[in-house]
Amino acid sequence: MEITFAGAAREVTGSCHLLHVNGHTVALDCGMFQGKRSESEAKNRTLPVTISEIDSVVLSHAHIDHSGRLPFLVAQGYTKTIWSTAATRDLCAVMLMDSAHIQEKDAEFLAKREKDFVEPLYGMRHAVRTMELMVGVPYNKPFDVVPGVQATYVDAGHILGSASVILDCTENGVTKRLVFSGDIGRSGLAIIRDPVCPAGADAVIMESTYGNRDHESVDGARAHLAEVIRNTAARGGRVLIPAFAVGRTQELLYSLNSLLREGAIPSIPVYVDSPLAIDTTTVFEMHPEAFDQSEDMVKKVKELFDFPLLHFTRDVEESKAINVAKGPMIVIAASGMMEAGRILHHLANGASDPRNTILVVGFQAEHTLGRRIVEKQPVLKIFGDEIPLRASVEVINGYSAHADRGELTAWINTVKSGSPKLGPVWLVHGEPDVQDEFKTSLSAKGYSVECPEPHTRVAF
Ligand SMILES: [Zn+2]
Ligand SMILES: [Zn+2]
Repeated sequence: MEITFAGAAREVTGSCHLLHVNGHTVALDCGMFQGKRSESEAKNRTLPVTISEIDSVVLSHAHIDHSGRLPFLVAQGYTKTIWSTAATRDLCAVMLMDSAHIQEKDAEFLAKREKDFVEPLYGMRHAVRTMELMVGVPYNKPFDVVPGVQATYVDAGHILGSASVILDCTENGVTKRLVFSGDIGRSGLAIIRDPVCPAGADAVIMESTYGNRDHESVDGARAHLAEVIRNTAARGGRVLIPAFAVGRTQELLYSLNSLLREGAIPSIPVYVDSPLAIDTTTVFEMHPEAFDQSEDMVKKVKELFDFPLLHFTRDVEESKAINVAKGPMIVIAASGMMEAGRILHHLANGASDPRNTILVVGFQAEHTLGRRIVEKQPVLKIFGDEIPLRASVEVINGYSAHADRGELTAWINTVKSGSPKLGPVWLVHGEPDVQDEFKTSLSAKGYSVECPEPHTRVAF
């Protein structure tokens, strides 16, 4: 039994690990590499193995850094099953189509610049074909992936439909349990259920995005959000929130809904300026089975993602109209790391106004505009123009969908509690310095930790 770390090894994006058991190969995730275009472009176009070698794909969740290269696999000739939870499948229906659209637009743009034809990574038809291969399975119900590998999804508490995967692998009469964490969420996040930690494993592939850092509490984040909105509204400014369309946006809407109900924030217009966020909100409404039924709002309120003064703007004209509107308001727009999407014109238009606040609620990778804003660099480059950054910048990490150092440590402690003979813990999905720090901290607690370099093949 072996594993090849084909993506998200010593970096955060491009999640993909190949599990080799019994002469079969199973891909755990097949995500897009993001970041510097010149580097990620080449990585995204390189397959870890030939298509014919991959016998099955098991997807942990719908985020593009985990699912985004599935249509590329299909474009290269993959025709076998792609497993996911039901909600992940439905989110992918929206997200992979959106990603295909971006790939096509990108290729068009590059072709114009290079004055030559550029093949998109994949197109709409590949995203559609991918959906035909996706099979949704329930949580906590084992399913056969290939002969010798049985998988079970458990709640990862990260985004709707997200899962950690328990893989029971049998080869030559020996059965071993591998746990792939996927992205681990946080307890107490709105809407979705808390992570369920699988107790017991022989080996673990574990994410480490925030392995060196502690977040503010979920309640603290909510209070901080209310304070930022009250202060900005009092100045007559706008709160500009770049947010991942999936997860963060719905969580923010849920928080704003409850803060308004309590009278903790003034009634000012809220614009959700992202067609993708609007579509994914619809998918959320389709999957109440994945909601945390112990939450008061989930139990009592029918319209979780709707309230007076909330506007969803789908077309570009409506989006542009927000820029000329007057008075305090909240604008939630894609995308996560502020590298593309409608948030760019809101930033181009609003970053120089000291009344405004840019509220960062998600992880901002190196070399992105988002990271430069978090670092409060005095001048931003947006659409080729230099924009002075005079708006205040606030960071709320409590809205992170990722577990922090303490929560990750608690997670692995629970895995260990069920298996005194826990073997290697391979850290993936983290920046190198963060991983090194987390490795040191876990090693000191007696874990056998490794941070595999890309394309390393290990046995377990
Ligand atoms: Zn994720
Ligand atoms: Zn991820």
